[in-house]
Amino acid sequence: MADCSSIRKFATAADYTKNFIVQGEIDKYLPGGRHFIDEGLINRLIAETDGKAPDPARVREIIAKSETTRETLLPEETAVLMQVTDPDLFEEMRAAADRIKRAVYDNRIVMFAPLYMSNLCVNGCRYCGFREGNAAQKRRVLTMDELKEEVDVLAGRIGHKRLIAVYGEHPTTSTEYIAETIETCYNRQVPAPRTGCKVGIRRVNVNAAPLPVADLKVLRSVGIGTFQVFQETYNRRLYEQMHPAWSVKGNYDWRTTCFHRCLEAGVDDVGLGVLYGLCDWRFELLATVLHARDLERWFNIGPHTLSFPRLEPASGTRVPEESPWLIDDATFARILVIARLSVPYTGMIVTARESPASRNRVLDHGMTQLDCSSNIAIKGYSDFADEAHQEKERQQFMLGDNRSIDEMVRYLASRGMITSFCTAGYRCGRTGGCIMDALKTGREGKFCKINAILTFREWLDDFASPETKAIGEEIIRKELAEVKEWLPKFYPTVLRQYEATCRGERDLFF
Ligand code: SAM
Ligand code: SF4
Repeated sequence: MADCSSIRKFATAADYTKNFIVQGEIDKYLPGGRHFIDEGLINRLIAETDGKAPDPARVREIIAKSETTRETLLPEETAVLMQVTDPDLFEEMRAAADRIKRAVYDNRIVMFAPLYMSNLCVNGCRYCGFREGNAAQKRRVLTMDELKEEVDVLAGRIGHKRLIAVYGEHPTTSTEYIAETIETCYNRQVPAPRTGCKVGIRRVNVNAAPLPVADLKVLRSVGIGTFQVFQETYNRRLYEQMHPAWSVKGNYDWRTTCFHRCLEAGVDDVGLGVLYGLCDWRFELLATVLHARDLERWFNIGPHTLSFPRLEPASGTRVPEESPWLIDDATFARILVIARLSVPYTGMIVTARESPASRNRVLDHGMTQLDCSSNIAIKGYSDFADEAHQEKERQQFMLGDNRSIDEMVRYLASRGMITSFCTAGYRCGRTGGCIMDALKTGREGKFCKINAILTFREWLDDFASPETKAIGEEIIRKELAEVKEWLPKFYPTVLRQYEATCRGERDLFF
């Protein structure tokens, strides 16, 4: 059981809203009151580059810098990439983004599932179905018994190993609840349908509201994976329009400093994101670069992942349909390529918010992670046998891609990609700055290739349809041949673990 004695508890929503934020933990990271999201600089860069074609030689220089150093670009460099509209030059950028992704992450796509724990919320975000006062939303908090039922479907029927656990912000589901849900997920083991092997969840990432340092230390102690908080928009004026001043989330500085607190607390895999469609995408990308650079400056650790949620229809709000900043699929694809070149080492997540066509399109634009067989209704996995079922009043927004994991694994294989269920990184201490260096040099790619093979083998045997298994095995043969060529001395060890996995041993990793 997590030791929660160090964290504050709040009896009512009003008390929580008034007293949750710890001002000293904001001020520490905004010395002299100066914010690292320098809006003056961002607006100047946008104004200077707006509508002007860039010098192709300069663009190629920046691509080369990104590809050779794999270090975060300067905002001025990202601004140049944002100017590119010429299709041939953009294709050069896309191809480089794909090469960088392959150099850092190989041909892997990491698979995860969202798991919504609660939709009680003290905040009033204007675009979200969970917001306080939205009477159309059916409210619910998973009990630990209900959570076990959800995990049984996710781990035991679908075959997921990695979750993103999602929470509204409310004293009922505070840090103590989050810690208990993480522990409950890790402790559940169920038999796999095709082999009877014991399977379970091995990595729980969390998407929740910003927390103080003491609370983050508790989450670290129960083995949190990545702590993900989406900034929604970095533009302070638009942020304040979307998030009422009376709400906890209305405090822009509390949210923008939350990853500094994470890294201070030792939660060193942090996941940044912007809710695209609330503001000019160029502003958001430049701000993301400034955010990554400030984390690197303080802690020498940048974002473990970037997420790219786009506004989707939600219950009781018209913001997702009426925002003046909505983006089309082509712009979405551009954003991904520029993000990959701007923060070359980071993981990039594209969720099932997107349509199948949009996700298929951006697979070679630098992305590394996706979710499948997703159900974002609270208790949706165990309540609905039909995986594609959606219900606006039970979920935060509507999903665009309802493909099953079996279908997606097969599709990825048809594009030469291996689906990875690997969760070894944080369990072997390969997190934060340590994994960042390994990624930049391509070392992590090698370890991960082996772990991808082992976990893919597990999933194919435990869950795949015969058709998917046949295609998956072809991929495995190619991957093993590559490992043999790269690491001839180590290959016999890899093969021993692989054969043990085929015999039914589980959770072997390097
Ligand atoms: N409640 C916490 C918070 O807001 O920080 C946890 C995250 S919330 C449950 C998950 C994320 O969903 C939000 O950060 C936001 O980016 C996204 N979201 C909210 N409404 C959305 C919508 N209509 N379409 C797409 N994404 C949305
Ligand atoms: Fe609450 Fe998060 Fe939705 Fe805002 S985005 S209303 S904080 S659940």
